[in-house]
Formats: sequence, C-alpha cells, structure tokens
Amino acid sequence: MKLDITSILKNNGGTISIQLEEALEDLETSLGTVSFTGPVSFTGSVTNNNGLLKLTGHAKVTYSTVCDRCARDFERELVIDIDEEIIEQEETAEYSEDDRFTYSGNSLDLDRILADCILTSIPMTQICREDCPGLCPICGAEISEKGCNCENHDSIDSRFEVLKSFFD
Ligand SMILES: [Zn+2]
Ligand SMILES: [Zn+2]
Repeated sequence: MKLDITSILKNNGGTISIQLEEALEDLETSLGTVSFTGPVSFTGSVTNNNGLLKLTGHAKVTYSTVCDRCARDFERELVIDIDEEIIEQEETAEYSEDDRFTYSGNSLDLDRILADCILTSIPMTQICREDCPGLCPICGAEISEKGCNCENHDSIDSRFEVLKSFFD
C-alpha cells in the first residue's frame, strides 16, 4: 500500500503506527525455487526524524521451496526485523550512491520497501530441517525416509581406512 505520510511530514517526531496484511505484487513471481504462499503481514511504525523517515517493525510471510539436500517440498515462515531509514527523493538526483529507500511527495511506497527487505532476507540455502541427511549418494533414495539398501553410505571414509592401513 501507499502510506499517506501527510500527518507526520510537517511534524518532527510524529509517528504513524502501521498494521497491515496484504499480498505484494512484487512477490507474486517465484525466486528460484522459492514461491510465496501467503500475504505479507507487517506491524510497526514510521517516524519523522528531522525529515528522515524511520520505518521499524516486523514483517512476516510464508513461502514454499525445495530442500537443497533431499529435494522435498516444504514450507517456511520468514520473519524479519525491519529498520530502514527513508530519505526524501531529490528531484534533480540522477544516480546516487545512497542506497536508502526514498519517498516523494506525501506518500510512502510501503509495498516496495517490504518486498525489497523480504527478497534480500531469503536464505541462500534451503534445508527442510537442520539435520536433514539428504539423499543417498549411491542410489538417490531419501536416507531420512525409509533408507535404502546401499550399505556403504560412508564409502569415502572406508576408502580412507584402506589407505590408512598402507601407511601404518
Ligand atoms: Zn531435506
Ligand atoms: Zn542408497
């Protein structure tokens, strides 16, 4: 949503509390194996700090993805802390080194900021659970489920054992 910030722009120290839940257009396409499955909820506030807006709060969204180790689909909830400074966009500014978010006029594009913060917080690796043992390197079966008949899940280690005996 576009937040109307008229009430705090001329009021240094003024705050608007925000509580919203909505589907963000920017999150409708999937990102690699990640696709968002629900609306984003955000609870927080925006405060005018001498013309600099400070957006703080928590955003929450769920996504589905595929485990990097066992290739199983799973769903995860992502909760992120948001603490962003937002500066007024200068009419004349072309390219700027400043990578802070901007606002112009009396509206703040909250959707863009939330979508950006969420997209940059998605973990690079997706593991269904901390101790997911993954797939058998020999037959490709899920070790976590029913296992498989391959005996040498540690074949590499046993080869080292053989080597070691040479040096003994
Ligand atoms: Zn897994
Ligand atoms: Zn196997």
